[in-house]
Amino acid sequence: MLELKPEMTYTFNPIGIISSPYKEKFGIPRQPGLVTEARATLTLLPPYNQPEIVRGLEGFSHVWLIFVFHGTQAQGWKPTVRPPRLGGNARVGVFATRSTFRPNPIGLSVAQLSGIQVQGSSITLELAGTDLLDGTPVLDVKPYLPYADALFQASAGFAQDAPPARQAVTFSALASEQCTRKQGQWQTDVRRLIEQILSQDPRPSYQQGQQQEARVYAMRLYDFDLRWHYTPSGIEVLELADI
Ligand code: SAH
Repeated sequence: MLELKPEMTYTFNPIGIISSPYKEKFGIPRQPGLVTEARATLTLLPPYNQPEIVRGLEGFSHVWLIFVFHGTQAQGWKPTVRPPRLGGNARVGVFATRSTFRPNPIGLSVAQLSGIQVQGSSITLELAGTDLLDGTPVLDVKPYLPYADALFQASAGFAQDAPPARQAVTFSALASEQCTRKQGQWQTDVRRLIEQILSQDPRPSYQQGQQQEARVYAMRLYDFDLRWHYTPSGIEVLELADI
């Protein structure tokens, strides 16, 4: 009888690289779909940049992306983590979470496939609703199959429902005007993108509930630094500062 011994090390090559508005980890939503306005592209690398590799994919509205957590890979992993959904205090096993700090730093995200661009050897998938850092290496793309992948009866422990929007978001006169100027750039409704990101409240759990109006938070999106602060009535966007 043929004995199949598993290999103990594997080498995978990225099939493409993500280009995304999220230029740093801070502020990225905790799962895909929470910020539907986040548009990203996946550009296929050689030798995978052949038109036939995506033949038939245009019939699917969503895809699974399997990717490397390249931004946190160097930090290794721990057997337990403190998920933000539990307030950042309780520890659960890493396999009970979607933490980035895993034995193999592999991520899994579903994304809306809004288009496929083929121009010679340049093949780009247009994606929406992603939770991916700019430059993320992607290992595989698979079509999303509702009959097999959407399980309405499934129970999900401490993460049964999507996290609620936590903060009302308003814009200063300056930020509002800056949004209008950037409107439509990157095929994105920039104002809506910012509202969706900030309503989730990107602060670590232990800071939520605190309110220091003087403290200014920032995250990098596209080519600007988004700055905001907390007021008694919610988040006020201060400015979109050019880098
Ligand atoms: N949907 C994925 C990721 C969940 S964790 C999964 O379940 O596997 C979501 C977090 O991953 C985001 O908040 C973001 O900070 C982080 N992230 C996204 N892309 C990353 C990357 N390339 N490297 C490290 N962290 C990344």
